[in-house]
Amino acid sequence: MRGPFEIGGFRVPPGTRTTLDLPVSVLSDHTPVSMSVHVVHGRRPGPVLFVSAAVHGDEVIGVEIARRLLRAPQLDKLAGTLLVIPIVNAFGFMTHSRYLPDRRDLNRSFPGSEGGSLAGRLAHLFMTEIVERSDLGIDLHSAAIHRTNLPQIRVSPASDVTLEYADAFGAPVVMISKLRDGSLRKAAQERGVDILLFEGGEGLRFDELSARAGVAGILRVMNAKGMVAKRGIAAVREKPVHVRSSSWMRAPAGGLLRTFKATGEYVASGDLLGRISDPFGELRTDIICETTGIIVGRTNLPVVHEGDALFHIAETTGSDVEMRVDTIASQLDGDPMFDEDEII
Ligand SMILES: [Zn+2]
Repeated sequence: MRGPFEIGGFRVPPGTRTTLDLPVSVLSDHTPVSMSVHVVHGRRPGPVLFVSAAVHGDEVIGVEIARRLLRAPQLDKLAGTLLVIPIVNAFGFMTHSRYLPDRRDLNRSFPGSEGGSLAGRLAHLFMTEIVERSDLGIDLHSAAIHRTNLPQIRVSPASDVTLEYADAFGAPVVMISKLRDGSLRKAAQERGVDILLFEGGEGLRFDELSARAGVAGILRVMNAKGMVAKRGIAAVREKPVHVRSSSWMRAPAGGLLRTFKATGEYVASGDLLGRISDPFGELRTDIICETTGIIVGRTNLPVVHEGDALFHIAETTGSDVEMRVDTIASQLDGDPMFDEDEII
């Protein structure tokens, strides 16, 4: 018989699932704040995977992905243990803010410390209770407010294993990017725990493509880890496009922005991406693409200052990449929904 899973002083027996509240802090008005973890402890042995969302409190698409994941029938026959933390930064989630009340960015505060700032304490709790108990983690993010991201996985160039799981996830694009100091990815990697960072959609918004890409991707990674059977999980029809560098096209002038290109589109140097006009329609400035690749992020706000980030372009060449991104996106579109009665 497999032993119970121990976390935060609780014991979860094999073949059961439960939601646990780990205390984080007490607010100024005496309200206790906790980080809630749903533990699915399989009857059969296997790896420990964590799935976290809302490390940035306003990146709510991950919360919806976690909700759908927890309803997946595949979890009934889980091998190993799944830890789902739908809202890591409860403070930011409640106030629709990326940050913590001490104005720190949690994803720049890892690994944190027990006696540190509020952000540092939350990071420390997450490291000791979640990361150090796991073999692999999937951290769910979205673009900031007023911007949107094409569903994508970000991995560190240092780990070939993570790249394999990134391909198994099957999002349209895999960005191989350096780790930032203080990020969850860096702190986890230093402890030997691989992290896939998912990016998709817009801050404070739900979108169906990102929700589906997230749920399907997590189940595919769980299948690749031997945690769930293949049944009911669509195989990836196209290999994700790998990119190693990306850059932002910024507003050459302030004014009102009209965009002619969307996320997922392939653009070449010299293409017209958009146009900025003054409110009187007298002055206009074209935004000409300076690189070649896939648009992986874009502003949704038509009111821009000079210097604002407008288009995030992942540099890649080859006329087949847009077709591959398209194939992956339309496959996600055609997937059956978990909740047939719910359209977000
Ligand atoms: Zn984020």
